[in-house]
Formats: sequence, C-alpha cells, structure tokens
Amino acid sequence: MLPSKIKVGVIGGGQLGKMLIEAGQPWNINYTILEIEGAPASEIANKHIIGELSDAHKIKELAENCDVITYEIEHINIEALHALEASGKRIIPSPKILEIIQDKGLQKLFFQHHGIPTTDFELVENASEWGEKLLKLTGEKIAAKLRKGGYDGKGVELVKKHDMLDNINQIPFNEPVVLEEFVENAIELAVIVARNEKGEITTFPTVEMEFDAKANLVEFLISPANISLPIEEKAKRIAMDAIIKLDGIGVFAVEMFLDKDEKIFVNEIAPRPHNSGHHTIEACYTSQYEQLNRILLNMPLGNTHLIQPAAMINLLGFDGVNGDYEITGLDKILAFEGVFVHLYNKAKTKPKRKMGHITIMGETTEDVRKKAALVKQNLGMKQL
Ligand code: ADP
Repeated sequence: MLPSKIKVGVIGGGQLGKMLIEAGQPWNINYTILEIEGAPASEIANKHIIGELSDAHKIKELAENCDVITYEIEHINIEALHALEASGKRIIPSPKILEIIQDKGLQKLFFQHHGIPTTDFELVENASEWGEKLLKLTGEKIAAKLRKGGYDGKGVELVKKHDMLDNINQIPFNEPVVLEEFVENAIELAVIVARNEKGEITTFPTVEMEFDAKANLVEFLISPANISLPIEEKAKRIAMDAIIKLDGIGVFAVEMFLDKDEKIFVNEIAPRPHNSGHHTIEACYTSQYEQLNRILLNMPLGNTHLIQPAAMINLLGFDGVNGDYEITGLDKILAFEGVFVHLYNKAKTKPKRKMGHITIMGETTEDVRKKAALVKQNLGMKQL
C-alpha cells in the first residue's frame, strides 16, 4: 500500500487538523479539509473545500473525494455523518459515538449506564426544573453545563446550590443542562486512548492539567502526572474501559477528576486528538496525531512511551491584544534546549484565543517545570 494514494478527509481545519496533516507528511498522506477560508490547516492541506462544518452538501462533497473521513471538532453536522456512514463510508470515530459526545447529558447517561465512574448528576430541561433537581444532589457547589454547544469552558457555570434555590433569577441557563456535583480540589487528569479496527488499544502516559481559572482553558500540562503508579494504572484502566464500552475506533481524550480520597471520576471524552496530547508530538515515540493516521490507514498502533518528561504551555492570545499581532521572546525561548514551538498560523488574535503551544522537555519533571516558568517569563505578544 502507498499512503500517498489514501485520501483522508478532515472535517475542520483548525490546529488539530494542521497537526494531523503535519504528522502524515512523512508518509505523503493526501488530505482534504472542509473548513472556512484562512484556517490553520489551509496552507498545508492537499485540497481545501471551503465551507461550513454544518453544511451537509459540503460534507457529502468531502466524502465523495475521500476514502476515509475524520473530524477535529465535535460541533459538526451529525445527520450528514449518519447518512454517509449508512451508505458505507468509513468515518472515524463513528458518528454514533459523536452523537453521544455532542450532548453532555447523553454522555453522562452513558457513563452511568455502563458503570463508568462519574459525578452524580441530574438533567434539567429549563430553569423551572432546577429547584427540584438541585435538592437531589449533595454538596453545595454544582457545575451546570449546557448539554449542547459548549466548548473550552464556555457553557459551564459553577454555582452554589443555595444561591440558586434562594433566588431563581440567578439561574444562569434556561436551556437543557446537566447539573453535576462539583469535585472539590480535584486534580485534573487526561488519558489519551487510541483503538483501531482490529481492537488493538494503547494509552498515552497520564497528563495532569493546570487551568487558567479566568479563561477556563488548559494553560499548562505536565506528563508524567504527579500521581502514584497504582493511580496511573487505574486512570488508564478506566479510560480504556470507557472507550471499549463506547466501541470507539479512533483517538480519544478521556478527561478525569482525581479527588483527595484518590477516587477518579470521568468528566468527559473528546473523540479526537486533544490539547492534552500536543506534547506527544515530541515527547512520545508516537504522537496522538500519528496514532490517528495509523488508525485511518489500518496500520498497527505505535509505541506511546514518553521519551522524556514534558510540559506543554498553550500560547493564548494576550489580554489587550486584538487583531494583528507579533509574538515576542521566541529568540530567547528557542535558545533553551528541548523547547519546541508550534504556531497555528492564525491571522488575527484575541484574548485567550489558542494561537500556538510550546512543549518543554527535560530530564525530570522538576527541570521541566523550571524551564517552563522561564519560557512563560520570556513569552510575549505585541499589538501591531
Ligand atoms: P468543556 O467541555 O467546555 O471543557 P468541562 O466539562 O471540561 O467543559 O468543564 C470545564 C472545567 O470546569 C473543567 O476542566 C474543570 O476545571 C471545571 N469543572 C467542570 N465540572 C466539574 C466538576 N464536576 N467538578 C469540579 N470541576 C469541574
């Protein structure tokens, strides 16, 4: 087989699509993306179908041009994908899984039904149901999440139960929402799982995520996570079990909370390469992106071992900088050993927009943390 003859269609041409294509370039895989103009992957895709990710006609056009379809974002036209799969098109992961994942309510019900540990929750259709359902949950802090359409912390509100019960005007959503118990002082972990059609399954080493509380975005992650081996094993087992129960084929990020009693709760699953796996490009023998390419091409899965401890910093648009920009400090940052800069080729910035990321590798997690702090100190963004 010759990978250059395999036509892969990618719905979405953002940074994840760009990195998937980059990982396929050594094998000359032929990619077509469906995306609006001027996206991060536009310049490196072999072909670019310009269109909206919700446009069923464009998705069909993409499928007609390609042997296999994948996607790098969840908010796409599911009906179009179901129809294509029914007509025999290979779509990885299956739209049956995407349909569950697109709806945080269905996702929680799936976890509950299959014994995948997750926080207790209630589903509400609108604000009038909050009172009754909140009383069924223990704990004062509640995470309220829009069932559909949220991303990167948007559509998530952390609320206090009694504030909501005392003053219904404070209820932040009047749409279908998941109300779930909040895990206090949680350590946030992610395990990336890859599974192919032969049923081979691999996990990447667990990563620990640190969040920018204001933007609700992963700001910094480190691998290996600062957890004991039994917890690492448990996190991987839970993550693999969830993907097997979903009958998932593809690359999935399983996000979890670890509480102070070392209990693990699955928060959510992303059916695609994930922000928490960017570092795998340099830090693991096989990256999450190459792993997906292997699955798309029906090849065996690669070795996921960490070559060295690594951290990843998201390069987010700086506050106060909008539109045209310049990144400063790269001359200093690139002088450090084991530092890898990825820029997503976005023409315009805005505060907290994901503009790139930086992977930092070192002998120990301590070295990596120190170097990451230096990288952060030197990184800047200038308004043009
Ligand atoms: P999104 O899908 O937009 O990333 P998440 O469900 O991951 O939304 O929630 C965003 C963030 O909010 C999480 O990464 C975590 O920091 C916090 N969070 C969400 N749910 C809970 C919870 N039940 N307990 C503790 N923290 C939570």
